[in-house]
Amino acid sequence: MPDLGASEIAELIAPLRVAPGSKVNLPADFDPGYHAGFLNKRDGRRLLNRGVEMLSEYQSRLAAQDTYGLLIALQALDAGGKDGTIKHVMSGVNPQGVTVHSFKVPSAAELSHDYLWRYAQCAPSRGQIGIFNRSHYEEVLVVRVHPENLDRQRLPSAANDDGVWRRRYREINDWERYLSDNGFRIVKILLNISKEEQRLRFMKRLDRPDKNWKFSSADVTERGYWDDYQRAFSEMLSHTSTSWAPWYVIPADHKWFARICASAVIVNALIEIDPRYPKVSKAAHRELADARKALEAEAPGK
Ligand code: AMP
Ligand code: MG
Repeated sequence: MPDLGASEIAELIAPLRVAPGSKVNLPADFDPGYHAGFLNKRDGRRLLNRGVEMLSEYQSRLAAQDTYGLLIALQALDAGGKDGTIKHVMSGVNPQGVTVHSFKVPSAAELSHDYLWRYAQCAPSRGQIGIFNRSHYEEVLVVRVHPENLDRQRLPSAANDDGVWRRRYREINDWERYLSDNGFRIVKILLNISKEEQRLRFMKRLDRPDKNWKFSSADVTERGYWDDYQRAFSEMLSHTSTSWAPWYVIPADHKWFARICASAVIVNALIEIDPRYPKVSKAAHRELADARKALEAEAPGK
């Protein structure tokens, strides 16, 4: 693969996209170890650098045009590589144009609102790229795997019946459609790791003093729910990959490959938005020329 042109990007990400309406069985349908055989790690580094450059260029145009925003929802199990992906993929972009929000267990104040409230508060403005490190999808993942989270949300009984997950999928799709109709493009990425790779990454967190802080014994407890999470992911992917906000399942056992894919998915969305620098009107051109004349007249020695 020589470079990251629009068609190479489209080719790279096509197999990662979840076709809207398809029924997904995550462990059977997506291989966490896949790395598009034709790429090696060194080529990978070059491609990632190119992706980072493109992202930076597009982000400047997005900000200048100030019409569209981009929301990136990043989901993964613990040690799936969310933090590293954000750090590497966004390394070249102007920090003024990017916001990152990490969603944790909801606070008492957040639990006093409807469940999408806290995510809406953090959505990007026009011209901005907003990253959700974990996202509104936790509401159909951790909340589904551990229903006591749902109890804490104090829903009225009619909103807490057997249909609650189906309804949440619909509400999330509707919210995303609303955002997308109003100029906010949504990119949804699931970093898909294998159980063995998660074990190895946990071991590294235990072995390396500089990584100890990242380990929590709760992570091992959560790992015990592996199959429940795979089922919750499968259901989420089956119901919420839409034409306006499709899911991409990124093979994440190889970090270098996951980062290239994440960067390709994000750049692809920006290529589709195609933000342009605003055109300067004739009147504004005249103003620029007048300003130049005035500044030149002030030059020392004139
Ligand atoms: P971390 O991303 O490792 O800092 O952990 C954040 C924790 O917050 C994870 O265990 C998530 O499952 C949890 N979390 C995030 N969103 C929610 C939510 N809406 N309800 C309950 N727990 C959540
Ligand atoms: Mg964690």
